[in-house]
Amino acid sequence: MQTACLNQQLAGARVGMRSSASRLLKAAGVRRSSTVSKAVSASALQLESGVCIVTGSSRGIGKAVALALGAQGCKVAVNYAGRKDAAEEVAQQIEQLGGEAMVVGANLGKREDIERLFKEVTDKWGTVNVLVNNAGITRDTLMMRMKPEQWQEVIDVNLSGVFYASQAATKIMGKARKGRIVNIASVVGLVGNAGQANYAAAKGGVIALTKTIAREYAGRNITCNAVAPGFIASDMTAAIDAKYEEQILKGIPAGRYGQPEEVAGLVRFLALDPAAAYITGQTYAIDGGMTMQ
Ligand code: NAP
Repeated sequence: MQTACLNQQLAGARVGMRSSASRLLKAAGVRRSSTVSKAVSASALQLESGVCIVTGSSRGIGKAVALALGAQGCKVAVNYAGRKDAAEEVAQQIEQLGGEAMVVGANLGKREDIERLFKEVTDKWGTVNVLVNNAGITRDTLMMRMKPEQWQEVIDVNLSGVFYASQAATKIMGKARKGRIVNIASVVGLVGNAGQANYAAAKGGVIALTKTIAREYAGRNITCNAVAPGFIASDMTAAIDAKYEEQILKGIPAGRYGQPEEVAGLVRFLALDPAAAYITGQTYAIDGGMTMQ
């Protein structure tokens, strides 16, 4: 008798669990759990494509990201600050890979340039589905020698640029109730670095901003995640004095610098893969094990 009663209670609890689960799914715009698994398994086969803006994509990591998204058939806005020729070359490569591309010069340290970047893209393609905040600069020196301009320039491009571009993107994505933002932070934003007070503060700010955007927009089906690279082979790391290189490599368990394409693979997943739809507010270090805990 007791067992029957318990079974009844458990059955009731299971029904209760099912109905609260279906209430949650209904609230998320999905009717039945089988519909969810079918949708996930079907969409897992193919990445989505759409209109993407990749800031600072004429070189380095941004270029690799733009090519990776273009190769998925996306329409990619290739942004640059000064190197128009390099950006045009990236656009050509995207078209060869089967995507579409446009080139937009805009200084991410200037609000009016960011507004124009979004206007040019929406005038041409009507919307923005993916924003990759990649543009970044360094002005390294020890804190005691850091001039106000060195501090401000890095904060303007690496932090304020991410904020204003994300604000512009979420206006568009919020109306569409769909979008993905990926911010390129840095392991320096997690652990700090002597000689990079400006850069570390900006990247740490980007990580906190990522979580805030994720919280504010999760209900609108917009995800926002950060990728925190370690040492990646690019013009930025080519500027590091060779005398420090041996020591840097000693601190990387993988024993080598990462490649821009390796970062691009993670960004593509977060930006396009249906399987990443439930990931938001996270920061992924991609650093050959440098900052593992
Ligand atoms: P990079 O090779 O120096 O390339 C920088 C890119 O950003 C270029 O396309 C450049 O355009 C653009 N850019 C610079 N200032 C800009 C501005 N004010 N407005 C718009 N675009 C601007 O850099 P990277 O190594 O690929 O780094 C890309 C991102 O990853 C940065 O956010 C960086 O902080 C981050 N990161 C890099 C590493 C690394 O080891 N490389 C590690 C951690 C994080 P132009 O070609 O026109 O100058």
